[in-house]
Amino acid sequence: MDRDQANYLFNVMRLDQGASVTLFNGRDGAWRAEVAERGKRGGALQVAEQTAPQRNPPDLWLLFAPIKKARTDFIVEKAAEMGASRILPVQTEFTNSERIRQDRLQAHAIEAAEQCGGTFVPEVADLARLDRLLSDWPEERQLMFCDEALFDRPSPLTNGDATSSGTGTPWAILIGPEGGFSDAERSRLHALPFAHPVSLGPRILRADTAAVAAMTLWQDRLGD
Ligand code: SAM
Repeated sequence: MDRDQANYLFNVMRLDQGASVTLFNGRDGAWRAEVAERGKRGGALQVAEQTAPQRNPPDLWLLFAPIKKARTDFIVEKAAEMGASRILPVQTEFTNSERIRQDRLQAHAIEAAEQCGGTFVPEVADLARLDRLLSDWPEERQLMFCDEALFDRPSPLTNGDATSSGTGTPWAILIGPEGGFSDAERSRLHALPFAHPVSLGPRILRADTAAVAAMTLWQDRLGD
């Protein structure tokens, strides 16, 4: 174990030799282990039995334009809790951030998976341009394009054919930046065959609220 893990186990959680911990690596389910060595800078765990099989979440990507640091952290944390399989920060025309700390965001995703007892950790991708991602989009994956310009449509997810593809289809959700999408982006997204423009209800939500609302709706209609 590394220094940070040792610090967390022995100084924060105050575990003694022989204490039980649950381990997961995102691929092999959950395992019980015991503290075998306890030191100031490290330690060792003795792995015992498997306690849960690997459970992978439904195949849902969350694409979002990074906003202020704390709200970006919030989006990554909630996406990991709600079972997104990949988290992709995207640069749109009105995105203010030009870079992200991918390692920090990945660490947030790991912490969120730990706290909600999951055995899966979503990958946080590096910042990529939305137009490039759309040009190289995997054919079968459907995109729930959350379009704030549709905010006055009454019924979320029933405008368009977003629910007609069934539960086995891989999906992605796209949330725009604080300034929303540009007209050019909106026109392009409306014309893409795999993109389904949806309203999230009759008010313009903050981007972090919109991400949680969209994932909740997806879970209700399409998730398993
Ligand atoms: N200025 C606010 C902020 O600081 O977060 C509002 C940002 S809103 C423009 C950000 C994104 O949330 C939009 O691009 C869209 O993806 C999504 N969104 C917000 N309200 C929505 C709604 N009623 N319907 C669909 N998408 C919505």
